[in-house]
Amino acid sequence: MSTSHSSKKPKVTSTREEIDLAVGNFFELYPTSADCEEVICNAVAPDGVTCECGNFVTEREFGERTIRCPRCKKKIFVTADTFFHGVKRPVAYCLATYLMSEGIAISANYFAKCASVASSTGGTILHEISDVVVKNMDSATNVLTAKFRQIIGKRSKETPAREHPFAEQAEEEKRVAERAKRQGITPAPPPEVTELPSELEPCGELEKEIYKLIMDEPVNFDSLSDSIDVPLSDILGALTKLQIFGLVKVLPGNKYSASHDAEDIDFPEAARPAVLPRQGSLKHFFQYVRKTHHRVSRKYAQRYAARYWCFLDREHWTFASLMKACAKAKRPSYAQLTSYVSPLAVKLAFPDPQQQQ
Ligand SMILES: [Zn+2]
Repeated sequence: MSTSHSSKKPKVTSTREEIDLAVGNFFELYPTSADCEEVICNAVAPDGVTCECGNFVTEREFGERTIRCPRCKKKIFVTADTFFHGVKRPVAYCLATYLMSEGIAISANYFAKCASVASSTGGTILHEISDVVVKNMDSATNVLTAKFRQIIGKRSKETPAREHPFAEQAEEEKRVAERAKRQGITPAPPPEVTELPSELEPCGELEKEIYKLIMDEPVNFDSLSDSIDVPLSDILGALTKLQIFGLVKVLPGNKYSASHDAEDIDFPEAARPAVLPRQGSLKHFFQYVRKTHHRVSRKYAQRYAARYWCFLDREHWTFASLMKACAKAKRPSYAQLTSYVSPLAVKLAFPDPQQQQ
């Protein structure tokens, strides 16, 4: 059942066939547990490991996570103190990393099936890797989870009794306000009341300024840059952000027009005379979540945003780069992993528009 629109609309999830094909490819590349151990060791210590005695050991048996130091004869654990330390299912970890880095959107249940692990284990592994990705999102766009109502429908232990899962939002807002009060910080003032669309709230002053300029009629990029005294790269960045929120449309002739209907988000494509071809947007993220994960909890919204970044960004996330990011990260304890609560402003990352051209 392939749709004839597939060339127009960006895909929002992976089909069963796409997933099975990627899983097949993985097992062709890394058929044994030793192959996966090898991938892990190469990510953690590509050149070798330093023994406690100071000896740098480069010789290691294929697929072995431990080395005997030839000088002091002590056992060295290659993955000690890393994300992969004590990992009992190297195949499942490598498969999860591989699928995420191949842009495969997969539910925890189906991943568990493909990796031959229990559902809960599959979910935990995906969460652990997503957590690593989250730690690499510092420079991403902030989006308030208050806007996530349409994807939040799964209870978590943060959900107040007998309330809708989205009630976590108000709870978290209360907690943040209380924390600020305790620490003597003045809570952030309520958002200013303007006639601008509410989608602009999480945007900065520059985005608002640009939006005001293009609100009534389309303006071309040169006039925009003449009207605003900031570097061109900042204007481009702000326009990108506005596109993400579905607030700006790119018209032929390098013109920008305000999009008043946030539901009618335009996805400029390379074939069109758009300056910033992009696949991602808030709406696209919601579609991805709904198609792949159905409903998620507010608590873990940030991790689904991380997976969405992996789903989209083939330049940034490759099998090697995601393995490397994991190798550099510390392994969260189960308590750390499950006590996490997404902040009120979640990071949402998109592929660099420049890379997409
Ligand atoms: Zn030694």
